[in-house]
Amino acid sequence: MGKVKIAISSCLLGMPVRYDGGHKKDYRLIEMLQNLVLWEPICPEAECGLPTPREPMRLELRASVSCIVTINTDVDRTDMLNRWAEGRLDELEDVCGFIFKARSPSCGVTDAEITDIEGRSQSKGPGLFARAVMERFPHIPGASEEDLREPEKLEEFIEKARLVTSR
Ligand code: SF4
Repeated sequence: MGKVKIAISSCLLGMPVRYDGGHKKDYRLIEMLQNLVLWEPICPEAECGLPTPREPMRLELRASVSCIVTINTDVDRTDMLNRWAEGRLDELEDVCGFIFKARSPSCGVTDAEITDIEGRSQSKGPGLFARAVMERFPHIPGASEEDLREPEKLEEFIEKARLVTSR
């Protein structure tokens, strides 16, 4: 059986792209999928032109819209990230699923914290890039690494991705 192409947050693959210069390699996930998957690593924050290390950001509700903003210096990076995403999404047409870092303001699939402008938690939702991916590719399965901890969930995810491949 051929490999399925899955987009993944680069930090989960072990690339040192996080705001603090580190990574969040998910050794178990990568090992379990190494013979099944062709990875398409993506780090929205590093690829859109921000430096690593960089100031951490959060999702803030501004005029009822989720914006991605640097926490200490209050710089809104929403337009920068969205401009980059337009081109990057075009390169994902052959991807059959995505696994994105839980809770990230860019990558979180469902559980990025959304705050008010004072940083007070208001709700949870998708990160800025994850939302763009789901809007563009509503037919492909997406999950965080935490969603796939149980072997049954992982198997189910790969099966769904295979169905996308066979279309
Ligand atoms: Fe990882 Fe996404 Fe944050 Fe990049 S933006 S470091 S890929 S969680």
